Amino acid sequence: MAVAGLINRKRNLVEFSPDFHWHEVDVIAELSSKHNVPIIFDNVTRVMALGEMVYGIGKDTRNFICVNVGHGIGAGIVMKGKPLFGPTGMLGEFGHLTLDKDSEVQCDCGNFGCLEALASGQAIAQTARVAMENGTSSILKDLSGGDPSVITAKMVVDAAKEGDTLAWSVFDRAAEYLGIGIAGLINLLGPETIVIGGGVAQAGDILFEKVRKTVNARSLKKISKDVQIVPARFGTKAAVMGAVALVLDQVLNLNLAAENNNCV
Ligand SMILES: [Zn+2]
Repeated sequence: MAVAGLINRKRNLVEFSPDFHWHEVDVIAELSSKHNVPIIFDNVTRVMALGEMVYGIGKDTRNFICVNVGHGIGAGIVMKGKPLFGPTGMLGEFGHLTLDKDSEVQCDCGNFGCLEALASGQAIAQTARVAMENGTSSILKDLSGGDPSVITAKMVVDAAKEGDTLAWSVFDRAAEYLGIGIAGLINLLGPETIVIGGGVAQAGDILFEKVRKTVNARSLKKISKDVQIVPARFGTKAAVMGAVALVLDQVLNLNLAAENNNCV
C-alpha cells in the first residue's frame, strides 16, 4: 500500500496524514480485520521512488529525488541506490516546507504558506476557484458550468493550454513555487535527477518548462547545471509500479531498502 502521510516505521503506523486527517492510524490492524492477506505499506512518494529505482530512472542513476505533485506534495529521496528513511521513516515531507511566510493560505498540516498549499493540485484548483468567485473572467466559467466548486487542477491546466489568462497565471505561479522548492532540494542534496510525478505532472511541458527555468534561476549553477528534471517513467501508474517493487522487496527479500533493516 502507498499511503500519503508520515509513516512511522518504528511504530508501524501512519503517524499523521494531513490529506486524510489521520492521526496515529494502525492501517495493518484496520485492514487485516477485513482482508486475510499480508499488508505492506509505506509513504506514497517513497513507494513511487522505489518503483523508479527498480523499473525506471534507477537504471540510469543511483542518486535521484522523486517529487510527487498531486493532491499533496512529497519527495522520495534515493541516494547511492538506497531510499532514505531516516531514523523513523518520517522524512521527505517536501510539501510542508514554508515558502511564503506571509501567506494567508493554510495548509492541511496547520501551517501557513507551505509549498503544498501553494503548488499542489488542490492549491491550483482552490486558487482558481477564489479568483472566479471574485469575478475574474475565464473560460473556467464554461468548463465548470458556472460552478467554481467543481473546478479541478486539470481544468485549470486545460484552460491554461487554451491561453486563458486567469488559468495561466494560477498555474504558472504554482509551477514557479514548485521550481523554487526543487531548487532548494537540488542545493541541499545534489541529486543527478529530479523525477516529477503525480497528477499535476500530467500537465507536461507547461509545468516542466517553468520548473526548469525557475530551478536555473534559483539554484547554485555548479550543483544544478547537470541535473535532469524529467517526468515519472510510469506517469499516473508510478505508485502502482512502486507497490509492486515494495512487495517484491519484502517477499523476495531483495534488500532494496537495506538502510531500514533495523527499523521494522
Ligand atoms: Zn503543510
